[in-house]
Amino acid sequence: MSDSETFDIVVVGAGVIGVATAYYLQKNNPDKRILILDRLPAAGQANTAMSAAAVRNMFASSTNQLLTHTSIKCIEHIQNEIGYELLFEKTGYLWLLSDDQFNHESVQTWMKRMETSGIHYKVFNKEELKNMIPGLNVDFTNDEEAELMNLEEVSYGLFGGDCGVLDPTRLVEFYLEEFKKISDVKPRFGVDVEELLLSADPPLELPGEPYVWQNKLVTGVKTNKGVIHAETVVIATGAWANELLDPIGMNSQTKAKKRQMFVLHADEKEGLHKLLDSKGFNELNCIPFTILPSAGVYFRPQLQERGFWIGCGDKLGRAYHYKHTPSFDVAESSYYENSVYPVLSKYIPAFEGSRPVNSWGGGYNYSPDAIPFVYYENGVLVVNGASGSGIMKADAMARIADALYRGEEEAELFGGKKISSSALTIKDRDVEIESVVI
Ligand SMILES: Cc1cc2nc3c(=O)[nH]c(=O)nc-3n(C[C@H](O)[C@H](O)[C@H](O)COP(=O)(O)OP(=O)(O)OC[C@H]3O[C@@H](n4cnc5c(N)ncnc54)[C@H](O)[C@@H]3O)c2cc1C
Repeated sequence: MSDSETFDIVVVGAGVIGVATAYYLQKNNPDKRILILDRLPAAGQANTAMSAAAVRNMFASSTNQLLTHTSIKCIEHIQNEIGYELLFEKTGYLWLLSDDQFNHESVQTWMKRMETSGIHYKVFNKEELKNMIPGLNVDFTNDEEAELMNLEEVSYGLFGGDCGVLDPTRLVEFYLEEFKKISDVKPRFGVDVEELLLSADPPLELPGEPYVWQNKLVTGVKTNKGVIHAETVVIATGAWANELLDPIGMNSQTKAKKRQMFVLHADEKEGLHKLLDSKGFNELNCIPFTILPSAGVYFRPQLQERGFWIGCGDKLGRAYHYKHTPSFDVAESSYYENSVYPVLSKYIPAFEGSRPVNSWGGGYNYSPDAIPFVYYENGVLVVNGASGSGIMKADAMARIADALYRGEEEAELFGGKKISSSALTIKDRDVEIESVVI
């Protein structure tokens, strides 16, 4: 790389959101020279690879419903019509809920909104769940530990059959390959963007500008391999958005929070094999992605390895921050042992004695309303804030980013549905608050 180069657009971040955005920008702006940069050695290696790799359209806000429903349809299209294998499997999502939780206004509103939007779901009662999920504990009567742990009993299951799991790195490869077919600019890896170049608009060539009274514009990036100028800089850096935006005083309004995954194998445990082979939910005859009623603990099947991935969407008590000790990308065994495992093994005693064979950490990038941000200001096109569900929203977010770039009032999502291009901006935000965050 020479000391200074110029492109029309520089996309910082080659996670699923960055590569999808680069692809739609290139497709709809064929004359523009677009450079993708990432500090890691390849695309999709950060949080995209650290995720639970699941997709659902079961959200409470109509915005997230639209973003995910259309993105999942696109995923199906890529796999089934284009024939690009994404390992998308419709396991379904299952929320196990107590009586109180099920009858709570928020869950009732969630179900009504899904009906209005035509999102399919089924409700199972306790007896049905006991029959379908071998070894599920639905009764904590006289269980003092469960009471101490504030565990809610299972009374209902809310199930969405159009949801599932996939291999997100394949999705990244798909967008990247499509991008490469229509671009002659090779993506660059191992390039760390150190800062955004903020200039006066128009430049008066005064020392130390821009001053407060000048208009400001981001005109490129300074990297560890030299300076790159661009009319537009796309920030698709996910949990690290603030590293670049804070220093120039752009408030991304997003925060990062550490999330972890623990892999368990069924091994010789008959109870776990039976659980994995739960019948009645899907054509795969497997347990769906299952969210327990308490503490945010969830698990999903990993059929190829005959195992499970276990996670937890904890809330109060753990810090927001993308750099802290222990390190962001390393899972904490004490977190599994003391926080996750006791909950998991109460609901499914077959997990008793199971220890992770693998684990990792990553970060969610939360927005205040758990709806993504897509906005274009001062030469910066920000695409972030997916709040723990960026893989399932990436296609829609990328199309909206491209529409904003082109100055279109509406973005067309997969299948022809439209959304106002400004709906996800900070200034003209037009969204409901999302209540179903895992
Ligand atoms: C444990 C866990 C479970 C999750 N489960 C799910 C799930 O089941 N389904 C789902 O949809 N989502 C899930 N998510 C969220 C999902 O992973 C993210 O929403 C998604 O990956 C965001 O994509 P991205 O492209 O913004 O981020 P990333 O994949 O993190 O990409 C950002 C890229 O920017 C690069 N970058 C950052 N700063 C710089 C810089 N200064 N210079 C150069 N490069 C830079 C990084 O190296 C990285 O490659 C989960 C996340 C975690 C952590």
